[in-house]
Amino acid sequence: MSASHTKITVPVFITPTTDIRVSLQTAAESGADLIELRCDNAPEAAMLEAIRLSPRPVVVTVRAPWEGGQSNRTDDERAALLVTAAQAQPAYLDVELLTLTRLPALQDALAPYCGAGKTQLIVSNHDFEKMPSDLAQRLDRMAALKFADILKVAFMPATVADAVTTLRLSHEGLSRWGKPVVALAMGPKGQISRLLGAKFNQPLTFAALNAKAQSAPGQPTVHEMIERYRFREQRVNTAVCGVIGWPVGHSLSPHVHNAGFRETHFDGVYVPLPIEPSYEEFSAVVDALATCPDMHLRGLSVTIPHKENALRYVRERGGVVEDLAAHIGAVNTIVFPEADADRTLRGLNSDYPGALDALARAMHVAREDLASRRVAVIGAGGAARAIVAGLAHYGATTVIYNRTFENAQSLANEFNGKTGKVVPARLEKLCDSCCDIWINCTPLGMHPKIEGCPVPESVNWGRDTVVFDTVYNPLYTRFLKLAQEKGATVVPGTEMFVGQAVVQYERFTGHAAPVQVFRDVLLHELNARQAS
Ligand code: NAP
Repeated sequence: MSASHTKITVPVFITPTTDIRVSLQTAAESGADLIELRCDNAPEAAMLEAIRLSPRPVVVTVRAPWEGGQSNRTDDERAALLVTAAQAQPAYLDVELLTLTRLPALQDALAPYCGAGKTQLIVSNHDFEKMPSDLAQRLDRMAALKFADILKVAFMPATVADAVTTLRLSHEGLSRWGKPVVALAMGPKGQISRLLGAKFNQPLTFAALNAKAQSAPGQPTVHEMIERYRFREQRVNTAVCGVIGWPVGHSLSPHVHNAGFRETHFDGVYVPLPIEPSYEEFSAVVDALATCPDMHLRGLSVTIPHKENALRYVRERGGVVEDLAAHIGAVNTIVFPEADADRTLRGLNSDYPGALDALARAMHVAREDLASRRVAVIGAGGAARAIVAGLAHYGATTVIYNRTFENAQSLANEFNGKTGKVVPARLEKLCDSCCDIWINCTPLGMHPKIEGCPVPESVNWGRDTVVFDTVYNPLYTRFLKLAQEKGATVVPGTEMFVGQAVVQYERFTGHAAPVQVFRDVLLHELNARQAS
């Protein structure tokens, strides 16, 4: 199946002060296939100059304020400008359904300039507040217009499930309405309607030149579309993976997994999926993704606050939750039947193997060799829970030091004896610890409070000590710098992040993960964020 030909359209606002040549050139160089000339308040001469000079085919839009535009023209003035634009024969003219309905004479005036071999008419409809309940009927009305070549709807979704609806509409477009459909959901919850546009064969989509130049909320940049989300490589059968969280915009998983797909030539794309904390929203979105025809959903990474929801979801849908994930009570990885060797929905936890592999790699041993070690785990929250479960499973002796002793106690009670020994201790006793391995599972030292450190400078570490910080921003925390000064072996939190991503990647794709690429991408992104 060949790659899709969805055209990436970059909006350029034509105002009395726009440097038209420079703006058009910049848009073309960004990788855009089409340039949308937003002529809301453009002087007529500037609009015509832009149509004439554009190095790419253009879409001319004169957007009314009641559909999210900025035009302060009257209906008649906008209609006159649209007819003037049509006479100059741009590749596309975008006119709102409501404008065409309110001004029937405009349809007649545009008729000589639109149609086969002439300007293509995009009929559009926008709702910046909600998903209209009569979306399909609106598309019916658009399709009934004589000169409509492309039907476009854009709205604000309530959840990611509404964005899945847009992909279904685009997918059904030609067969249901006889015309291609561009259905877009706005805002972060709507992002997949843009990021997966090529896979779902949308005729065109919109992307911003840069983060400050969005013409609708949630619009990714052209660079992100092409480089991160592999827009040019997407095909109908491209596999989809993603990360669920709230918030999820900061997640580095899309950077890492998409780079992995590119490196290993795996035909997949990995997208962010912001889902609010409730189980109802979680299950509705995952159901929508899993049942959408041709989605080819293979795997989901799950982060805060949904790891318990993911476990419940897999159980309620009749899937298998792997033993240790069930003991931990948290699933951070869902593998869908399309990716699973036994064609089963599966829930697992990749945090503990990620952490244990990071440790084992640094110590040049196998996970099983951790059995003879004494480990100090500082903290008793979610990260500590996964790590303690893993350490106990592989037979290590673990001492949990925590600010709230009772939390350390209940965590120790849960995992003591499965198989290793797990005991709680008071945080004040940490300096007396005689453990070989120390793991920070508190947020102490994390950006922006980088001065934080769970141990005093006098801590008794030597060359044989291994010091692991789950915090990965900054890369070298005060905890790790102190360990370096004392000659200990240090393990940065990035290694755990990479380790858990490796496990997920292999389960989603069935291929070995490109570990060094993961590491490089992660460090590059963290450096870029620190610099900005
Ligand atoms: P969490 O569930 O909120 O638990 C935080 C733990 O830290 C609790 O035990 C808490 O003690 C303790 N704590 C918090 N503030 C403290 C302070 N000022 N002094 C002493 N103890 C303090 O958080 P989490 O999800 O486990 O995350 C912990 C860290 O792990 C985060 O920094 C996160 O970045 C990191 N992490 C890294 C990865 C990775 O891939 N590298 C993955 C997951 C998490 P109380 O019990 O007294 O509240």
